[in-house]
Amino acid sequence: MEWFIEKYNGLALMIQIKKRLVKKESKFQKIEIYNTTDFGKMLVLDGKIQLTERDEAFYHEMLVHVPMFSHKNPKKILVIGGGDGASVREVIKHNPDEIFLVEIDRDVIELSKKYLKVDKGALDDKRTKIIIEDGYNFLKETKEKFDVIIVDGTDPNRYSERIIKHEFYRICNKKCEIFATQSQSPFQQKDYFISMIKEIKKSFDFFKPYIGFVPSYPSGLWSYIIAKYVELDLEVLKKRFNERDVKTCYYKPELHVACFELPRWLEELSKSSYQLR
Ligand code: SAM
Repeated sequence: MEWFIEKYNGLALMIQIKKRLVKKESKFQKIEIYNTTDFGKMLVLDGKIQLTERDEAFYHEMLVHVPMFSHKNPKKILVIGGGDGASVREVIKHNPDEIFLVEIDRDVIELSKKYLKVDKGALDDKRTKIIIEDGYNFLKETKEKFDVIIVDGTDPNRYSERIIKHEFYRICNKKCEIFATQSQSPFQQKDYFISMIKEIKKSFDFFKPYIGFVPSYPSGLWSYIIAKYVELDLEVLKKRFNERDVKTCYYKPELHVACFELPRWLEELSKSSYQLR
């Protein structure tokens, strides 16, 4: 049996693989899809694990449902990145009127639909509008406004860097009521996390980091940032969860409230980032 190895600074993650199903250099990145022994299918971009079938819901549910349940009536949603379609799958559970998916790399969408199918048909749903474009350029040009904007970007590369800068966040701030993004591992990618906090701080008056568990990501501790507004009234969240009848395997209203309680070291790290100029 062979192993896929992802190295991050002094840490390596090994996942046993059965077969490589796809290896393609797209215009933007190296795309690989594997069949693994224990984690189902796995999408890798530029050597970094993006998702495995076994634990992708842990990530996509926390990225999507915390902002979506924070909004009283989310009908028009923008997902930037997320070409595998799993974030769109989770958004659709809230029965929105329309979802814009802005993904820079058509190959990620096509190969994910063919080999992964984690979108469970969401990418072909009549409410989903797929736009193949850089998220920054789309937002700069569009006249559309959104109830919720969700950024499901890759690890830092020359394209995803553009959607983690304050210029981008300032435009997002003008075009949505609630904003959320993934912000990597605060344990294993501390510098990246701090830089995102600083960029967000320049662009939003209100924001709050939260955390979740994703075993196939570096260190397993993952972070997200919500901005403009977050609902933390448990009774309100429970009511919305029941009314919308959203099925999940990780997210639940109690966890929505609890995930903002950061371990002390992370609370200190986040606070020190706030102070950073
Ligand atoms: N769940 C994964 C994670 O958090 O590690 C990311 C999922 S998804 C595969 C990331 C997507 O963002 C990729 O398909 C990539 O092509 C896309 N992407 C990167 N930069 C982008 C940009 N500037 N505009 C739009 N899509 C972008």
